[in-house]
Amino acid sequence: MVFRVECHCCPPNTCDWQEKKLVLKLSFPSTTRVSERTFMDRCKELVQGEHAWVLNHLPDIIWSFDIPFRAGSPQDNLKKKFGDADEMRVLRGVIQEELKPLVYLKTAKECAQVFYDVFQCHHRVWKYPEILHRDISQGNIMVHEKNGKIYGVLNDWDLAIWLNNERDGPTSLFRTGTKPYMAHEQQSVNWEGPHRYRHNMESIFYMMFLFVCLYSKPNEKVSHIEANNYEYEVWHRSDDCFLHLTKSTVVNTALFDPPVTPFFIGFFLWLTELQDHLFMGFSSLRIHIKQAAKQKASHSDKLLPFDKETLGGHFSYKQIAMILHIFNNEQLTTHGLEWQKILEALSQDGASQDE
Ligand SMILES: [Zn+2]
Repeated sequence: MVFRVECHCCPPNTCDWQEKKLVLKLSFPSTTRVSERTFMDRCKELVQGEHAWVLNHLPDIIWSFDIPFRAGSPQDNLKKKFGDADEMRVLRGVIQEELKPLVYLKTAKECAQVFYDVFQCHHRVWKYPEILHRDISQGNIMVHEKNGKIYGVLNDWDLAIWLNNERDGPTSLFRTGTKPYMAHEQQSVNWEGPHRYRHNMESIFYMMFLFVCLYSKPNEKVSHIEANNYEYEVWHRSDDCFLHLTKSTVVNTALFDPPVTPFFIGFFLWLTELQDHLFMGFSSLRIHIKQAAKQKASHSDKLLPFDKETLGGHFSYKQIAMILHIFNNEQLTTHGLEWQKILEALSQDGASQDE
């Protein structure tokens, strides 16, 4: 639940909260779940100097509080009856600056920059301070406007985890995310984790795919009569089993032809290129699994290495950045100096090869 709130704590114009447009977000996480504010405070602390750009793409959380359930409440009684089997929850409030939804955007290029911003932000926070978001969805991608400039913000870090944190071990087995955007492997009945960086990248792919096929403009959904796009509308109401199968078809088809609406036609190339990389990645993963089975059958212990984090290098950060840093033949803004240099060098390599 999200509410607009105002600060009435002190006389007018004496408190810096009064200048801000604030929202209060209420949720009921389990008591063991790390607060979004803890993650964001860690980012503010560690993301400095050359990397400070990332703070423009994260929510500005200024306060958070937890209210435990009181003695004698239904929660408390359930705990007494069920003991460890009952997961205790708290009422958690977070106060942050209000952000704008994607409908606020005007052009396809603005949307592309916002998605590219979110991709870059996700990478920075994953790399250092090593936090994995785990819930990429259309609703969690917001827009922040400052001094006439627009910034894409990756919002809602309440399902995030510290990378390699063993205390989070058991919970990482649970599926987390928003169904239409979850990586297809996570929606399989056989899913056992771990949640990897590339699963969030696959979510970014589905998020863009649904957005540019189901919206005729950022603030206008396509009419249901247009049956071609309607088949993807049902993703918003489908269960894991259906979505696992449908998305498996999307990533494993050699004939991917997304029904992008005319306004978003520039995204056609992005989507088909990203799908190409997913397609190649999952094909190599299948080959790897077959080889491993053969080797096991012949009792050979020479297992060929395969990087599951990036699907054998096909769906890595670098590969995706190569696609997303250009939209409709125009350069988008790449924020980190390190990546500006890498992409420039790669583009020059590509150009000289073309010649
Ligand atoms: Zn105040």
